[in-house]
Amino acid sequence: KYAIVNDHIINREEAKVDIEDRGYQFGDGVYEVIRVYNGKMFTVKEHMERFVRSAESIGIKIPYASENITKMLEDLIEKDNLKLGIVYMQITRGAAPRNHAFPAGDVVPVITAYTKEMPIPEANLQSGVKTILTEDIRWLRCDIKSLNLLGNILAKQKAAEQGCYEAIQHRGQDVTEGSSSNVYIVKNGTVITHESNNLILKGITKDVILKVCAENEIPVEERTFSLEELAQADEVFLSSTTSEVTPIVVIDEKKVGTGSPGPITKKLQALFKQEIENQCGI
Ligand code: PMP
Repeated sequence: KYAIVNDHIINREEAKVDIEDRGYQFGDGVYEVIRVYNGKMFTVKEHMERFVRSAESIGIKIPYASENITKMLEDLIEKDNLKLGIVYMQITRGAAPRNHAFPAGDVVPVITAYTKEMPIPEANLQSGVKTILTEDIRWLRCDIKSLNLLGNILAKQKAAEQGCYEAIQHRGQDVTEGSSSNVYIVKNGTVITHESNNLILKGITKDVILKVCAENEIPVEERTFSLEELAQADEVFLSSTTSEVTPIVVIDEKKVGTGSPGPITKKLQALFKQEIENQCGI
C-alpha cells in the first residue's frame, strides 16, 4: 500500500504527520472523497474543482495544478491496484507553531492521499436504509468541505447508536442534509432537494442526479423543504460518493411512503449506474 504526501508517492508506513500540523490541531484544511470504479475515478474533474474551491475559501492555495494532482492519484490507484473503492485526499495549511491566526508566509500546505477498497453497498441500494432526525448544529459554511466534522460526526454517531445508517439534519423546521449525504424527497413525481447554499455541501453526486433528471424530464425543485414535507413525502433518498442513490425507507421509526424504495428513486439509481458505466466502463 502506498500514500501520496505532497508530490511524492511513498510507502504507506512512511507517511507521517507533524504534531503541529494545523490539520491535526485545528482541522485547518479541506478534503475530498472520490469513487473509483473499474480502476477509474468517477467525476474526478468535479471533485478537483470543489477541492480547489474549498481550499480557496479558507485561504489555502494548492501548490500543484489540478491536472498534476489527478495524474498522481491515477498513479496511486495503479500502484495500489485499486479496482473498486475510494481515494481520500486532504490538504492542510501546514505545520507551524500553534497559533489560531494563519502562520506567516513560508508555511507549506500538506497534501495527503490514500486509497481504500470499498464495495458497492448493494443491500442498502436494494432495500433502503433507516434514518433518524437530528437538529443541525453545524457552522454556517457547510458548503466548504472542511476537515472540521464534529457536527457531522456527532449526528452520525447518534444514528449509529440507534441502529440507523444516516442522520437527517434540520435547522428548526428546514431539512438541510444528511451527516455525510444530500437528502431528497419526491412528491407527486417532483424531486425536491435543498438549494446549494452555505447550509449544505454541494454534492458531486447531487450534480449528477440533477443532470440526469434534466435529461430525462424528471421535474426538480431545488429549494428548502420542511420536516412536514419530509413526513408527507412519497419517497425519500440520499446521495453521496460512497452511497450513490440510497433509498430512505424509515425516518425516526416511521415508514416512508409504502416502506420500500419508490419508482423515482429506482429510476434515478438506474440512470446513475448508466453515468458510471459511461465514465468508467463497467
Ligand atoms: N453533504 C455532506 C455533509 C457530505 O459529507 C457529503 C459526502 N461528501 C455529501 C453531502 C455528498 O457529497 P458528494 O456527493 O460529493 O459525496
